[in-house]
Amino acid sequence: TATIGVLALQGAVREHIRAVEESGARAVEVKRKEQLAEIDGLILPGGESTTMRRLIDSYGFFEAIKEFGQQGKPVFGTCAGLILMASGIEGQENAHLGLIDMKVARNAFGRQVASFEAGLDIEHVGENFNAVFIRAPYITEAGPQVEVLATYKDRIVAAKQGQYICTAFHPELTDDNRVIAYFVSMVEESLQTVAS
Ligand code: GLN
Repeated sequence: TATIGVLALQGAVREHIRAVEESGARAVEVKRKEQLAEIDGLILPGGESTTMRRLIDSYGFFEAIKEFGQQGKPVFGTCAGLILMASGIEGQENAHLGLIDMKVARNAFGRQVASFEAGLDIEHVGENFNAVFIRAPYITEAGPQVEVLATYKDRIVAAKQGQYICTAFHPELTDDNRVIAYFVSMVEESLQTVAS
């Protein structure tokens, strides 16, 4: 069985743990960087990206997460986690982890529509997934290696680049585990590659 860690410094941790377990993998809350050695895939949850970045730095996670990904291990960022994975952020000089070649806009759907739900067709995942957006970002530019997985009103809201995947919405907040199950399958596949 694959073991999937959820970065547990801030944000929507518990819901991801539940969704991972319901998808048949083992789930652990990751609070120390040493735990990265014990997991096969990592989820960066939603929350507040600036706060999460500050905690990533104070707990020494910054280089450790980058190295984790460079080993070919899958990383999944949701909402604030997507912002953390981007190589560029609109209106800001510096990005965070820079794992995916994409530019993102924060709180991009505006104050009036801070939170909403939408049925999305998602590549590799399926049709009519009820996506929950909460002060969500979207992807404004995607590099040539980036596969667009879903759009909402012509805006990119889910993407994948190799072992890295991200969604602007919160897939863990509904009972429909198809998105998390897809990430679990990515992790299981990566384990087979390493083993063979
Ligand atoms: N608006 C938040 C940020 O910029 C993200 C919101 C979320 O994760 N639900 O970090």
